[in-house]
Amino acid sequence: MCQTGTLFDVQRFAVHDGPGIRTTVFFKGCNNRCAWCHNPESLLVRPQIEFYPDRCIGCGKCFAACALGAHALRAGAHSIDRAKCTGCGKCAETCYASALTLKGYRATVEQIMEQILADKPYYEQSGGGVTLSGGEPALQPAFARELLIACKREGLHTAIQTAGNVPFEHLKELLPHLDMVMYDVKGFAPSVYQWHVHGDRERILDNLHRLDEAFTGALAVRTPVVGPVNDTQEEIGAIARMLGELKHLRYYQLMPYHALGKAKYDALDEAFEESYYTPSPERMTQLEDLAAQYVTVFNYTRGFLRPSGK
Ligand code: SF4
Ligand code: SF4
Repeated sequence: MCQTGTLFDVQRFAVHDGPGIRTTVFFKGCNNRCAWCHNPESLLVRPQIEFYPDRCIGCGKCFAACALGAHALRAGAHSIDRAKCTGCGKCAETCYASALTLKGYRATVEQIMEQILADKPYYEQSGGGVTLSGGEPALQPAFARELLIACKREGLHTAIQTAGNVPFEHLKELLPHLDMVMYDVKGFAPSVYQWHVHGDRERILDNLHRLDEAFTGALAVRTPVVGPVNDTQEEIGAIARMLGELKHLRYYQLMPYHALGKAKYDALDEAFEESYYTPSPERMTQLEDLAAQYVTVFNYTRGFLRPSGK
């Protein structure tokens, strides 16, 4: 049976989602709610309309296209009644100015493979491949598994980016078809999970240790470094010390927070959390140097930083 999955994007020529040139497949739906998420369109499984008013030419076609009357003028401004919108996408189909974009669609493994295979020569030349990302790809394990099997049948390198807040069995059934797992650890203190990630800390950390036992491919751990939440020596030091106990970690990567997702929050009529900030380059260097006392750290500019004696 050909599985279908819910996605919100497929990006070609990705160079920061694993080795080489890759195609990244973005799954829609996540069960964490990281308040700094730069892909707010990834969180809900259902399709959503993004509206970019600066592109709108006021043609009114979307008003006519929406049978539910979700487009309205309020105080002279074009707005979408999100309670009425079912995400059918008909308004976006009529918008030639691309002010409306439907985020979320169903696709079969065959349809995604057609896109993936278009760039096979680039993967072969660069040592690249395919990365499943999101959202949380492990929340759609049957679709993810069939997609990975199809990739391996073509001899492609496969990777997944996961936040790990899933039953371990979801991850386990993907492992035989994966060359690389990029696992997010967003903090160590329980308060980071309680107030910012809104995910199950114990399950996430437990799954990481179980992965370390079960996975024979490359295991990388990544932390988005977000001021003022986890840009401290206490947080990054605690994570790095925990990672130092793993047997099969290939490397640890620290990724500075950025606020580039703000436009998407506005386009979805969702609140953007303004209190986070990007740690300075000097701060990132200090934190990487600290982590490198315990584990191998990877940075695209600095390369691999290894603990002394390793
Ligand atoms: S996606 Fe469908 S329901 Fe929502 S505003 Fe557009 S036409 Fe209306
Ligand atoms: S169809 Fe697009 S350009 Fe026309 S009014 Fe609607 S959003 Fe604006």
